Amino acid sequence: MTHRFENSLAFAKQMDEQDPLSAIRNEYHIPKQSNGEDEIYLCGNSLGLQPKRTEQYLSYELSQWQKLGVKGHFSGDYPWMPYHEFLTEGFAELVGAKNSEVVAMNSLTANLHFMMVSFYRPTQKRHKILIEDHAFPSDHYAVESQIKFHGFDPEQSMLLIKPREGESTFRTEDILKVIEEQGDSIALILLPGVQYYTGQVFDMQAITKAGHDKGCQVGFDLAHASGNIEMQLHDWQVDFACWCNYKYLNSGAGSVAGCFVHETHHKNKDLPRFAGWWGHNKQTRFKMDNQFDPTESVEAWQLSNPPILSLAAIRASLDTIKQAGGISALRKKSLLLTGYLRFLLNQELGDDIKILTPENEAEHGCQLSLTVDTHGLDGKVVFERIEKAGVTGDWRYPNVIRVAPVPQYNSFEDCYHFVQILKQSLQQ
Ligand SMILES: *Cc1c(COP(=O)(O)O)cnc(C)c1O
Repeated sequence: MTHRFENSLAFAKQMDEQDPLSAIRNEYHIPKQSNGEDEIYLCGNSLGLQPKRTEQYLSYELSQWQKLGVKGHFSGDYPWMPYHEFLTEGFAELVGAKNSEVVAMNSLTANLHFMMVSFYRPTQKRHKILIEDHAFPSDHYAVESQIKFHGFDPEQSMLLIKPREGESTFRTEDILKVIEEQGDSIALILLPGVQYYTGQVFDMQAITKAGHDKGCQVGFDLAHASGNIEMQLHDWQVDFACWCNYKYLNSGAGSVAGCFVHETHHKNKDLPRFAGWWGHNKQTRFKMDNQFDPTESVEAWQLSNPPILSLAAIRASLDTIKQAGGISALRKKSLLLTGYLRFLLNQELGDDIKILTPENEAEHGCQLSLTVDTHGLDGKVVFERIEKAGVTGDWRYPNVIRVAPVPQYNSFEDCYHFVQILKQSLQQ
């Protein structure tokens, strides 16, 4: 998208006025600075802000429990027994799935493990997991420990792909080439939808196709993709995907995670799975006959009855996103918002700041990852200065400041003020 941006506060305000989604900011609690002004909160990539209706949804469930006790499982507008089903449609729209392919359960890393139980079945010939070098630590540990669990050696079986020398993001052609060359020994490809450190969006469709052509299973970690970019997991034939709901999905720290399993796997009785009673056919779950009969959907992978308060917070978030017009409306604004942030950074700071995140629209979401390249100033010191001036972003070792203007609650004015503050903070 080429857009004529201007580097002025008046222009930023005008963009906010013309923004059809600007009112959605009022649906969120924006943290305040000590002077009473709103923080410039650019940290939705780490912990999204609380929708105002969350409190009301949680209170409702608390009062149901007060009034009904165990009968809350079957009574009220949102009975607890099928509560996860109230999130199905929202999730399906977010990731481009059929309703039968998405469910809320467990936490992200737990789901990665449970998915690998089913989709990482190493043999002597095909035993590798392809993952990026410097993946998010939890993903790295999960993969490494799964390889060891199956009696293989991470040195041989963990295939870490790196960007080219001197580059910080991946070229799709390079990923596809590794799959082409080593695919016969790769059991599972597990890559991010959006890479947490650089903010790069991976070409999930091309990677899935290349992996399948070589007989690999293909899964994605969507921690930084869900609620950020548009996806079509079903059409792309992705085997599985997992995500957390507390980043761009604003459902509170440690909230229950999401999981996708493609419908091609739902009827496969040969897939190994770690089972629990919540995965059992709903019609007969309470017959307690101890004959596991898996639900013919992703719900077969559920283990336990889920924490309702956490699911209520996810429902509040999904309803707020729906009110905003869904992920396609949000993504449209996001491209403008992040595009404007990049424009301002280039205009004001030029060579003093390097942006690691790709510029191409298909390859970035909300987040820009910045390194400070100026006058021998330490990036961490600059980060501390911007924090003091009212900006919440985040610092990731070894040397990146991540900032994410989120279309749900950030404004063009936020981007303008942030760049002014960053400019100030680069003075010696
Ligand atoms: C945020 C994040 C996690 C966090 O894992 P939890 O199990 O939710 O604690 C894992 N992987 C990636 C890629 C992340 O971005």
